Amino acid sequence: MFMDLPTPDCNGNLGSDAQITDSGILIVHGSYNRTIRNLSRAIWGDEICQYCLKPIKKHRLTIEHIYGREFGGVDITNCLTIVCPKCNADKDDLTIEQYVKLLDMIKNGEPKKNCLKFRATCRQENLNTVLSEKRFLLPDNWVDYNFPVKEIQINGVFNPKEAVKTKNYKKVKRVYNQRGMFKNPLIVDRRGFLIDGTASYTFARKNGLLEVPVILLDNVEIQRKK
Ligand SMILES: [Zn+2]
Repeated sequence: MFMDLPTPDCNGNLGSDAQITDSGILIVHGSYNRTIRNLSRAIWGDEICQYCLKPIKKHRLTIEHIYGREFGGVDITNCLTIVCPKCNADKDDLTIEQYVKLLDMIKNGEPKKNCLKFRATCRQENLNTVLSEKRFLLPDNWVDYNFPVKEIQINGVFNPKEAVKTKNYKKVKRVYNQRGMFKNPLIVDRRGFLIDGTASYTFARKNGLLEVPVILLDNVEIQRKK
């Protein structure tokens, strides 16, 4: 799939971390996370909350996962937008449809108790969908659920002994054991280099999984300086 990118004239905002070529390929040399943040700001602007449409106070903008992290959301621009801190907290891991419904309930003066109940019901429904259908709450055409682990490339040295000690690894292991699947897909660039999901990759290697869910970004390339 292609990651949403602003026009190349935003290169100035990307600093030395990355650049967009004339042919529309995002080359990342430095921090991927910072790049994603800068791209999101270039796409959405940083003055208006994209949910409540109110002005965002300076330095208070937050990057919001349109598709929540808990059920598959990832750090690619297609999944992100710019909102105020309140909207970010209020939406949490609800889907957009659920969140719109909740906002309606609040607007119509529904008692807080009912709103909380609605939120809890939504979360349970979302989890049930994920577990029963073994898929993320992401658009279907984003994810290859059967990407061969051996086709994933790693930048630099991969040290599984060290990798299993990380907090992230423990989290991935716990969720996998509970759900029988990962919480989020891995992200790889157009050559198959891993961008995000080191802990999931480690888990797959350690447990002999042959295939993992992957979002492959056809217009992104990681070029780490040696
Ligand atoms: Zn807002």
